[in-house]
Amino acid sequence: MVQKNQKLVVEIVDLSSEGAGVAKVDGYPIFVKDTLVGEKVEILVLRANKNYGFGKAINIIEASSDRVEPKCPVASKCGGCSIQHMSYDCQLKYKKNKVYQNLKRIGGFDNIEVEDTIGMDEPFYYRNKAQYPVGYDKGIITGFYAANSHRIIDFDNCYIGSKRNREILNIVKNFIVENNITAYDETTGRGIVRHILIREGHFTGEIMVCLIVNGSKFKYKTQLAEALKDVEGVKSVSVNYNTTKSNVILGDKVETVYGSDFIIDYIGDLKFEISPLSFFQVNPVQTQKLYGKALEYADLNGEEIVVDAYCGIGTISLFLAQKAKMVYGVEIVPQAIEDAKKNAKNNKIDNAEFVCDDAGKYMVELVKKNTHLDVVFVDPPRKGCSEEFLEHLIQASPKEIIYISCDVATQARDAKYLNEHGYTITHCQPVDMFPHTFHVETVVLLSHKKPDGHIN
Ligand code: SAH
Repeated sequence: MVQKNQKLVVEIVDLSSEGAGVAKVDGYPIFVKDTLVGEKVEILVLRANKNYGFGKAINIIEASSDRVEPKCPVASKCGGCSIQHMSYDCQLKYKKNKVYQNLKRIGGFDNIEVEDTIGMDEPFYYRNKAQYPVGYDKGIITGFYAANSHRIIDFDNCYIGSKRNREILNIVKNFIVENNITAYDETTGRGIVRHILIREGHFTGEIMVCLIVNGSKFKYKTQLAEALKDVEGVKSVSVNYNTTKSNVILGDKVETVYGSDFIIDYIGDLKFEISPLSFFQVNPVQTQKLYGKALEYADLNGEEIVVDAYCGIGTISLFLAQKAKMVYGVEIVPQAIEDAKKNAKNNKIDNAEFVCDDAGKYMVELVKKNTHLDVVFVDPPRKGCSEEFLEHLIQASPKEIIYISCDVATQARDAKYLNEHGYTITHCQPVDMFPHTFHVETVVLLSHKKPDGHIN
C-alpha cells in the first residue's frame, strides 16, 4: 500500500494527458510532475487516493536523454508550462502519441495514421497575449498563477510570451506603485488593479495595454496614458472595468485612454482588428499552418458551399472564402459575429455571411431548408459539439467534414459518432499551437463513406 509521505524509488512508464510522468507501484499509478518516460526517480508521495496517487520528484536517479534544462527558472512552479523539461522534439512526439491514443481509446479508431506534429522553428516567445494577475506581498507583485492555484508567482519574464512584455509590465507596475494604487484582493473583493493585459500584433508589432480594475471608474487614466504613450509600438491603452467576484478576467466595459480602440494583426494576407475583448488565436504563426492544413484537406475549387461552425471572429471563414463559392459562419457570441462582419468588410470579402446562433440550432435550420452543403468546418470549444449539431450535420450530409479541436478527447468522441453514421477519418494532423504546454490542436478530415464502406 502506497502511503502519503512515503519515499519510493520508481520508474516512469508513461505520460499523462497533462504531461506528468506516470509510475506504477504494483499496478497503482502515481503521477509525478516534471519527469519523463524511462527515468528512475526518487519520489515523495504527496497524496495517495484510492485508485491513484501524486508524488514529487526529489531526486532524478537516471535521467532520460530527452530531459533538457528548462529555459524558464520558474517553469516547474508556474501553471503555464508543464513540459519545458522535455526536449522540443520529444514534446512533438508526445503530442502525436496523445492524439493517437485518444482516437484509439475514445474513438475506437484502430488504424489511423496520425501525421507528425507540426512544430515551431522557434518554440519560445510565441504568445501574442499575456494576462498578468496583480497582487500584494510586502509590495505590489505581478506575475503568473502557480499550478492549480491563484497564488501569484512574482516574475516578469515569461519565455512563451512576447519579448516586449517585460518592459511594458514594469512600466505599468511602476505606474501602480508611484500612484499608490492598491492591488485587488480576491478573498475580500477590495483593492483596485486586478490584471494587466498585454497584446501584441505578431506581424505588425502593434501593442495594446489594458488595465483591468475593480470599479466603475478609474481616476488615474491620464497618468496611465502618460506612462505608456511614448513607448515604442504602443498603439492602444485602455481600462477595463470588472467588479464581479468571479475568476473571469475581463468585464464588459472598456474605455480607451490613449490611441486606437484596437490593434491590427494578420493571418496570412488577412487583416484583423483586435480589441481587448475580442477572441484572437494566441499563436498566429501556427494558426497560419493549421488553417493551411485545413484548407489543403478541403481541397476547394471555388464552387463549394461551406459552413464554418463555431466561427469566432471569422478567421477560418475568411481564409476559406478566398477559395470557396460561399461561406456561412455561425457563432454564439454576438460581439464575435460583429467582429467577423467587420473583418469581412475590411478584407473586402463579400462571399462570407455570419449568423449569431447556436451551431446546433443553425444546423437544424439548414436541414429543414434542405440546404446543399459541400464541406463543413467545425472548431468547437473544449467540450466539443452538441448531439443536436452532430445529428443534423449527418443529415446535411456534406462530402467532407473538417474538424479542428483543442481537445482531442472530445474530438475523438465526436469522430466516433460520425464514424458510426457514414464518415471515416482519412487524415489527421496535430499542430503544436502551444509549445511547452500539454495542449495540442488537431485537424481531422472525415470523408463520407459510400454504402459499401469505401471512401468517396
Ligand atoms: N474558429 C474560431 C474560434 C474557435 S473557438 C477561430 O479559429 O478563431 C470556439 C468558438 O465556439 C468560440 O468563439 C465560442 O464562442 C463558440 N461557441 C461556443 N459554443 C457555441 C455554440 N453552442 N454554438 C456556436 N458557437 C459556439
